[in-house]
Amino acid sequence: MTEGRQIVREQVPILVMKFGGTSVGSVEAIRQAAAIVRRSLADWPRTVVVISALSGVTNLLLDAASRATNGDRDAGQAAAGHLRTRHLEIARQLIPDDSAYESLSAEIDALTQELGHLSAAIAVLGEATPRAMDAVASIGERLSARLFASVLDQSGVPAQAVDASDVVVTDSNFQAAHPDLSATRLRSSRVFPTLFENGVVPVVTGFIGANPSGVTTTLGRGGSDYSAALLAAALDAAEVWIWTDVDGVMTADPRIVPEARTIPALSYRELAELAYFGAKVVHPMTIRPVIEAGIGLSIRNTFNPAHAGTRLVPKNNHSAEVIKAVTSIKGQSLITIEGRGMLGVPGVAARTFAAVAATGTNVILISQASSEQSICFAVPAARSGAVVQSLEEAFSRELRDRDIDRVWDSGEMVIVTVVGAGMRHTPGVAGRVFTTLGAEGVNVIAIAQGSSEVAISLVVEGSDEELAVRALHGLVGR
Ligand code: ASP
Ligand code: MG
Repeated sequence: MTEGRQIVREQVPILVMKFGGTSVGSVEAIRQAAAIVRRSLADWPRTVVVISALSGVTNLLLDAASRATNGDRDAGQAAAGHLRTRHLEIARQLIPDDSAYESLSAEIDALTQELGHLSAAIAVLGEATPRAMDAVASIGERLSARLFASVLDQSGVPAQAVDASDVVVTDSNFQAAHPDLSATRLRSSRVFPTLFENGVVPVVTGFIGANPSGVTTTLGRGGSDYSAALLAAALDAAEVWIWTDVDGVMTADPRIVPEARTIPALSYRELAELAYFGAKVVHPMTIRPVIEAGIGLSIRNTFNPAHAGTRLVPKNNHSAEVIKAVTSIKGQSLITIEGRGMLGVPGVAARTFAAVAATGTNVILISQASSEQSICFAVPAARSGAVVQSLEEAFSRELRDRDIDRVWDSGEMVIVTVVGAGMRHTPGVAGRVFTTLGAEGVNVIAIAQGSSEVAISLVVEGSDEELAVRALHGLVGR
């Protein structure tokens, strides 16, 4: 039996397709997504669908739960009513068959009632544990998976909703649970082969899992990509396609650079740098299982399915394109700690970052002047007050003795990053970057280059963001 299954698995490659919230956010989007699945079955008879909640639903759920913690007893009911109506309206338009519609609507009723009960309990307690938040958040995907499976079914593709809590095994770190791949593999082998053999397309809830005792967890915001990657690894899939609402990963944010275009091929490192420095792409951590298993990955547009999108490649072979993309991240503060007394004093950097870490703040970029008389680093502007205070406490003696002159916050800045693995072997890239910015009159306040040499980041004034990004985009592909 097991042997037979393994042979079948090797013979028929598996495709995992993930649809994000906007890809299932409206009647038209769901129609498109269902058509994509239907068409791909000819080439990929074993397709697993992973689905996000309808756009905006997770935010709505979490918002309702947090209102409930403030004692708002109606928040849950209001959200439940809203979600019920939204899902039923879509269902009514896409599911003509009355009995199919009725059975789906009974499931929608049950799930939205569950939301009402959970929120009422939270309002009574006046608090929501991370575990309760996950129970609430999971409702979005549980609704969308049932809706999408039913729509597929109606369009002639036998499909079944699968709750990932039956398949994806995680630890109990609610709201950011860590999956257990081998346990997930085992569960998957019990659920999916039977569906495949019966010609049924599984529609799996993204974002959620369950701990070993079966309590629902979530993988963190945006976690559906992670779900898709994980299931692909667990099923030894051949391919993962992430369907979103843009033509793959772009050379820049098209709202800033209208002539931005799709990057056809991107390495994992490049993707990681782009995501880190603010590009709206899949989170690299989430697709690591796919990359490690050598599974193919593409990012494609539900609303333009003929476009090939962006293909993830193991290594960058396009050295002709030194710079592939420009990205920017707003709302940063540059914190500087400076003083002549810092020269040669060991441990200043360690103490600085320990003091920052103590505030729970993520440092995005670091640069140190070679004179060793200052260290500067970027943190989200909203955190800068806490960071400065923590530094002043940590270095109170040095500040008093004037070994450190001051700790200061630059105010709102932007980090602009150029990404491209080809920079590694190409001298003069940094020179071109600065010449370009200089020609535009953009003042560069700090610079950092990762040792990976896949990215160069510059800190500029917030008001220079668009100018800098547009100017640097002119270097893309050259
Ligand atoms: N619905 C979840 C979220 O909005 C997961 C996802 O969309 O990937 O975070
Ligand atoms: Mg999403």
